[in-house]
Parts: sequence; structure tokens; C-alpha cells
Amino acid sequence: MRILLIEDEDRIASFVSSGLTAEGHAVERVATAAEALGVFAVSEYDLVLLDLVLPDGDGREVLRTIRACDTEVPIIVVTALGEIDDKVDLLDLGADDYLVKPVAFAELAARVRAAARHGQQSSRTIKTGNLALDIRTRIATCHGRAVDLPSREFALLEYLMRHPGQVLTRQQILDTVWGFGFESASNIVDVYVGYLRRKLDRRDEPSVIETVRGAGYRVRP
Ligand code: CA
Repeated sequence: MRILLIEDEDRIASFVSSGLTAEGHAVERVATAAEALGVFAVSEYDLVLLDLVLPDGDGREVLRTIRACDTEVPIIVVTALGEIDDKVDLLDLGADDYLVKPVAFAELAARVRAAARHGQQSSRTIKTGNLALDIRTRIATCHGRAVDLPSREFALLEYLMRHPGQVLTRQQILDTVWGFGFESASNIVDVYVGYLRRKLDRRDEPSVIETVRGAGYRVRP
């Protein structure tokens, strides 16, 4: 599994990371909330391990943000005793499980296996408004209707939907969806947004992809 480990204490991070790596997982470690949201926006993970007290912010915010853009990825909160005052609150925010430090590795490994089994049973879906994308099956659904999208259109829609409400410039979209080397003067992004609108939009409703003049595009959150 690809595991994102969000932990600012080096000692704990290396203990957890080396243990999980030995169990055959690929672990990516970040130490701050900002880094966590940065990597989560551009990569996919099968599981997130989240420390609740981070140097640049509250892990609850990270939890809420990750959950808002990925409803399915299992998230295990790992926290020091006394940092959680309301466990129910944590689960309500979208955590699947939590562990209290100091963590025994055997217990952590068991929770990771349990969360992974649970995660495999559900499909990985991202949703915004009336749109849903199933990342595993590559099926897009709009207003409950399955829409067949070629891979580039799917990638473009996925990128926009992973940043709901955020304006993405044509250059950002080009770099991410087409890769570097495309000329920024190219209107290919506009052309593909047009393809998506033709397939997804309803005549009586605003477009699912909004044009922000002079800036770029966004999907409504
Ligand atoms: Ca911490």
C-alpha cells in the first residue's frame, strides 16, 4: 500500500516508517500540515496516518480537508494522550480509527491491515456537487448518469475535482494533465474543457466547470 505518514517528530516518523516499509508498504512522510495537503493534492494514497498536533496547524483541519476531497481513503489518527478531548468528534470529522501514543508497532500494523481491508471493500470515489469520479474503475458520473470519458478528459476532470472551488490556471492544468513542454499559448485546455462541458452540462443549469475570467477554471465545491 501507499501510505502517507504525517508526523513532525523525526524519531516517531522513522520508527513507524521503517516498520511499515519492512511490512512491504511504500511510506511517504511529511512533517507539516502544509506539506501534507500539498502532496495529497497531487498523489494518491491507500492510507493516511495523521498526527494531530503539527507545527503549522491543527491536524483536525488536515483531516477535514483530506476528507473533503477524498471520501474513501482510510485515515488513522495517531495522537498523544490528552490531545483528543472528544473521540467522537474525531470520528465525525472523518477519521476511521485512532491510536494513542506511545504506539506499539504490532498494534499499529494491525490497525493498518484492518483499515486497508476496509478501504479495499469500497471504491475510491471523489465527489463534488453532482459529479463523482471512481478512480479505480475510471467511471465518471454526473447527475447519477455514467459518462464515458477518454483518459485525458478524465485526468482533466480529476485534477479540477481534486481542488474543488480552487481556480486553476491554464498553465497549472497544462503542466499537470499534459505534462511539461506544452506551450502556454496553446488553447488545448479550453478545447478539452469544452469537450467535458458538452458531455456533463445540463442546458438549464450553470456549467459544472466555471470559467474565471483572466484566471482559469474551477469546479464548484
Ligand atoms: Ca506532533
